[in-house]
Amino acid sequence: MITFGNAVAAIPNQETKSLETVWGEILSLIQLQINNQSFKTWFEPIKPVKLDQGEMTINVPSQFFYEWLEEHYYSLISSSLQKVLGSSAKLTYVVLPMDEPVHSVVVSPAEIISRVEPTHSKVEYSENSHALPYDQTFLNRRYTFNNFIKGESNQLARAAATAVANNPGGTSFNPLVLYGGTGLGKTHLMQAIGNNALENGKAKRVIYVSSEKFTIEFIDAIRGDKTSDFSNFYRSMDILIVDDIQFFSGKEKTQDSFFHTFNSLHQLGKQIILSSDRPPKELQGLDERLISRFQWGLTADIQPPDLETRTAILRKKCDDDSVVIPDQVLDFIAANVTSNVRELEGCYTSILFKASLEGKEIDIDLARDVLRTIVNDVRSPLTVEEIQRIVAEFFDIPNDLLRAKTRKQEIVIARQVAMYIAKDLTNCSLKTIGLNFGGRDHSTVIHACQTVEEQIKIDTKFRSTIEQLKKKIEIHSR
Ligand code: ADP
Ligand code: MG
Repeated sequence: MITFGNAVAAIPNQETKSLETVWGEILSLIQLQINNQSFKTWFEPIKPVKLDQGEMTINVPSQFFYEWLEEHYYSLISSSLQKVLGSSAKLTYVVLPMDEPVHSVVVSPAEIISRVEPTHSKVEYSENSHALPYDQTFLNRRYTFNNFIKGESNQLARAAATAVANNPGGTSFNPLVLYGGTGLGKTHLMQAIGNNALENGKAKRVIYVSSEKFTIEFIDAIRGDKTSDFSNFYRSMDILIVDDIQFFSGKEKTQDSFFHTFNSLHQLGKQIILSSDRPPKELQGLDERLISRFQWGLTADIQPPDLETRTAILRKKCDDDSVVIPDQVLDFIAANVTSNVRELEGCYTSILFKASLEGKEIDIDLARDVLRTIVNDVRSPLTVEEIQRIVAEFFDIPNDLLRAKTRKQEIVIARQVAMYIAKDLTNCSLKTIGLNFGGRDHSTVIHACQTVEEQIKIDTKFRSTIEQLKKKIEIHSR
């Protein structure tokens, strides 16, 4: 179901009234169960727009906002909705983003199917070799290589994705399987391949489908006696992108159909791109023949981003949104939201919301308030001074000698280690680090880092010392 903005505007007043009372009741139930901050950030900005036969339509400001509600408050919202409107109540989100076309997602609180795809997602099984209209690729233009931040954690996956986009079906990365935890960028990267290949004319027919959607369509095709249309359609693609294949688990018939589609595409030299939350060989309930085929190409993992990448992601978001957030605050967020890019983006958005809602400057205090609702144990960004203190204590030397001129061997080692850790665990520039060590030059810091890195490579005892020390510092800084 697609709800357009003007349809929303045409709702008669009378309905708006009862609608608001109902929404008010739902809100008061929700308010009882969450803290005030989260309520303000995530529920106050929602506008109820329509109530029609137990189906409530609410307007949320962005796709992200919708996803956040779904991820964090799904059961709270559905139980509150059901208490007020009865067990068959439905909720429709209308997303009204600034720069994207209006679209909506229908959510039914009924237990099993939590999210019903909008009806425009119904596939027309056209069997031709013409380019698919963009809205039938189910790609999202938001996902590009350009706004996917490179980092050590995604290096291989990103490099392979770029290679595949430049030459779909023509590299040995077929299939390309990306795996990793949730919110780390798998969907983003896969869709970036599709978008890029279309844009550069490297593919005409690209389709993005989740394994769940593939399954539902397959079942529908069986019911409607259209399995051959279904198969022909998917086998006519230049690039087939299937997201979250772990959900194929236990669905034997669907796996069988997918197996034949896979073989057919692979034989034709077409590109297959898959993602999973774990390495293919650890997928339970999946046919061995499929798993072995997944290993024909390249399997690349995406790890949680390191501090530098997290900060770069936040900076890029600020640039894209033309928002100014002080570096200090960005570092603070990046230091605290560590495991998941989606959560990192969520935190960024909440901070923007809170600042605009309350008309406040974005500073550490405001960021801390938001972080407290997301992270259990908010810590301040690690400083070079803190690192010096702990390193000095560890090597049992006076702290100020790290900044002094002395060249005594044991001091030099401790100083180099402290510089190396400062480079690794903070966002400070080489210059800043040097200044913090008695006004030394940035080249001294580079030399220190290289020396420590080399030592780590050849001396396992030294490596474990450094690891131990880093752990100590990370714990201390909490
Ligand atoms: P997954 O599919 O692995 O669960 P997503 O691709 O949906 O994760 O990513 C979650 C969010 O984080 C998306 O909004 C995505 O754009 C963003 N994201 C993830 N990794 C990066 C990155 N390296 N650079 C920029 N944005 C990223
Ligand atoms: Mg995903």
